[in-house]
Amino acid sequence: MDRQKEFVLRTLEERDIRFVRLWFTDVLGYLKSVAIAPAELEGAFSEGIGFDGSAIEGFSRVSEADTVAKPDPSTFQILPWAHKDGAQHSARMFCDIAMPDGTPSWADPRHVLRRQLSKASDLGFSCYVHPEIEFFLLENGPVDGTPPVPADSGGYFDQAVHDSAPNFRRHAIDALESMGISVEFSHHEAAPGQQEIDLRYADALSMADNVMTFRYIVKEVAINEGVRATFMPKPFSDQAGSAMHTHMSLFEGENNAFHNPDDPMQLSDTGKAFIAGILEHANEISAVTNQWVNSYKRLIHGGEAPTAASWGPSNRSALIRVPMYTPNKASSRRVEIRSPDSACNPYLTFAVLLAAGLRGIEKGYELPPEAEDDVWSLTSAERRAMGYKELPSSLDTALREMERSELVAEALGEHVFDFFLRNKRREWEEYRSQVTPFEIKTYLGL
Ligand code: GLU
Ligand code: MG
Ligand code: MG
Repeated sequence: MDRQKEFVLRTLEERDIRFVRLWFTDVLGYLKSVAIAPAELEGAFSEGIGFDGSAIEGFSRVSEADTVAKPDPSTFQILPWAHKDGAQHSARMFCDIAMPDGTPSWADPRHVLRRQLSKASDLGFSCYVHPEIEFFLLENGPVDGTPPVPADSGGYFDQAVHDSAPNFRRHAIDALESMGISVEFSHHEAAPGQQEIDLRYADALSMADNVMTFRYIVKEVAINEGVRATFMPKPFSDQAGSAMHTHMSLFEGENNAFHNPDDPMQLSDTGKAFIAGILEHANEISAVTNQWVNSYKRLIHGGEAPTAASWGPSNRSALIRVPMYTPNKASSRRVEIRSPDSACNPYLTFAVLLAAGLRGIEKGYELPPEAEDDVWSLTSAERRAMGYKELPSSLDTALREMERSELVAEALGEHVFDFFLRNKRREWEEYRSQVTPFEIKTYLGL
């Protein structure tokens, strides 16, 4: 047995762990969990744990329902929650999903990302990611369509002292750090109740696991503080939504392939082609980076969210920014993609961003001129004249773009691509048939 597995089995005994939760993620980005007794783990390492894949969104068709979860020992962490005796007795591991014959499941988002990472590795790159995750803390209330109430009245960078936010962030960060997830920054965001926590960079697969863990921890800590955390992209019409700005860089061995000390922005040609790739394919990948009907309520003018496929060194209305905080530090040269929202599936999102960026590098795409203007203040005709491509303005348009995309089909694989389109088309049709309070208010007088 390899050393990591031995370490896990030893730790279970030494720390008196009583529940091992095996985690994986469905195609839509929901965390799934099955708890096993420690005695079962040795078997789980060798054979995996069987489950009915057809019961999980997007996993398998009924006829091929037998699916196996294989725990990845490198992701073993003890959960921060104390049991009645004050000690921690639960741990978790992420799983890779396999078919009964042992081959990786095409439906496993972790596998989708692994495939893209191995493509990057064939080109000589490893990929690092750090996300800035925004979310809202809300007062506990019914989830029946009643407008939510923010849990505090703070604004950008406020040190609010009279409400739950600072305590909440301290507790959430302690819990994250205890599970090996380092936090770089945290602050109150612009809207009442809105928080941001930025994670320290990690390789893309670990980071996707970290994002899933992050959502779980943040929700649990919120419950303990008597509030609700939501990663819904846009809970309030009159406030900014919740982004998951995604910073990416590619390394060749020890060297940051995006860094060039001789460039005015210290950005290499590889970095420029990567940006060009994402700009070129921005519309096709949008349904993945912004997967809900509600996601498109965030991508409107104002609110610091992108609406066009543009880039700029520190332009906050652009889709891609080249952060200039520490331009001289070679290791931190990176690009920031501002479209993903906090309710995306991180595995699929990193996979399609990487696919688009790598396509730019492979095909040597030319970087278009940077966005000089505040693109929010231009009319759409002006933006078109200046060569900006509008991002999809609804899930419907995003799906139409995705349907035609050979890049996304290849990145997701046929199974996930088809399931995703079918599932999301249904979501759109259901939404489209709703008559909303806005319409009643506006049109009842007709
Ligand atoms: N909340 C904004 C958005 O939805 C981003 C704010 C920021 O720049 O941090 O995109
Ligand atoms: Mg922010
Ligand atoms: Mg940012």
